[in-house]
Amino acid sequence: MIGVYYPDLSPVEETFRLFKIPWEWYDPAHTYDVVIARRGEVETAGAYLVDLSEKDYFAEIARILSEGLPHCHEPMVEILIDELRQVLKEHTLLVEIPPVPWGYSYTVALTHDVDITSVRERRWVSVGYAVYQCLRKGMVRDAVRILGAKCGIGKDPWNCFEEWMRLEEDLGVRSTWFFLPEKGKAGEGAPAIRAGYYDLDAELIKRLTDGGWEVGVHGLDNWRDASAAREELQKVSDLTGATVGTRVHWLLFDEDSWKKLDEAGYVYDSTFGYNDDVGFKAGTMQPYRPQGCERLLEVPLIIQDGGLFGGKTWNSSDDGGRGACLCLSEEEGMRRCEEVLTYAKQYGGVVTLLWHHVSMAAPKRWGEFYRVLVGKAIVDGAWVAPEKEAVQWFNARSDAVIHTEHVPDGIRIRVPGIGLDSSLPPMRIRIHTNGADLGKINGDYIEGAQYSDLRCSSLDILVKVHEGTAD
Ligand SMILES: [Zn+2]
Repeated sequence: MIGVYYPDLSPVEETFRLFKIPWEWYDPAHTYDVVIARRGEVETAGAYLVDLSEKDYFAEIARILSEGLPHCHEPMVEILIDELRQVLKEHTLLVEIPPVPWGYSYTVALTHDVDITSVRERRWVSVGYAVYQCLRKGMVRDAVRILGAKCGIGKDPWNCFEEWMRLEEDLGVRSTWFFLPEKGKAGEGAPAIRAGYYDLDAELIKRLTDGGWEVGVHGLDNWRDASAAREELQKVSDLTGATVGTRVHWLLFDEDSWKKLDEAGYVYDSTFGYNDDVGFKAGTMQPYRPQGCERLLEVPLIIQDGGLFGGKTWNSSDDGGRGACLCLSEEEGMRRCEEVLTYAKQYGGVVTLLWHHVSMAAPKRWGEFYRVLVGKAIVDGAWVAPEKEAVQWFNARSDAVIHTEHVPDGIRIRVPGIGLDSSLPPMRIRIHTNGADLGKINGDYIEGAQYSDLRCSSLDILVKVHEGTAD
């Protein structure tokens, strides 16, 4: 057993919501294999001490999760957790629920922000700029098509819903769409160019949700104003008939936003990420509960089309002003995405992708890249899902509590209250064997390097461990 002594509750609870292992608050009457505390603060009575005065894992993890990291290309929180994991498994038979569903290698959540739904709704200045971009890239036909659509001639090339639905149906996946809740509104204090010019389309939203897609709020003022947060949520959830999540337009956010969104009733937020980079602002790909939130999960945004291929963003991650994006070639962009997928295979979590609705069309034409990228994840064995399904899975995992008990010749693992919707993949329980020899396991399992993963299909699992290895 692992005992933890720490003056502050929430950093410890936050850490162990991501690192799901059995632990308890230190009780001097109990005996432990490992005690996590500052040296000299508690009596360890022969237990191994993880000395927090050398390195305070809890404070560091909590700080990264709430403040974020600039231009971070390694999942720093996962790296810290793994350091702790390596130490713990040397000194106790460690059991864990990893952030990877049974039957899959990691999770990918697909999202689209809907800023623009047609050429016609846009002003001449932005249409003119798009035409100029097309001509620069030699897309003469596209330039003509866009000009035609602005004048009401031909099919509107910036209405890409059919193409997206077809692409995702071909791949056998579904995604989340974030719609702006109000037309012509830039948001308090934002430049006029932030406004979108379409109305919420009840028929389109019904078609999407009936087809298995998810619809959420592309927030305008919900990140800064509690009553706007409720109104924006209401407008969209009235049409979806479901609870919804949000991603704020332009990724505007401050330190109070999570609490406002949580109190307004959003199930999750997916704003925490970069406009001008790819990577791990939260230091993790795991959805997590930000400090002070009752229910809301943050699903960090990891890869977005604009960050990879865009020229400039209005909300750079350095100072919030105009700033340069990575502006990568497709080849270089894929290399960066593959780095992220490799981290996902190693640490689990959710690779959240954002491809804007209009980026399928000229002059951007980033849809084919998305198809290839999602195809790679499928080949990797990833669970590809709309964001709310990933949130449901991670919420259930976060609520699960593992109990282990040494019994004659083995260990008994109980996970009471593990209630997963049967439409979601099951969880797995990992036993870090680290040289220990697992004998009989009642249930499905697979063996990895220094661990065995069990399909968590029952609440009570018995594992026989060969003698001398269970301590
Ligand atoms: Zn947007």
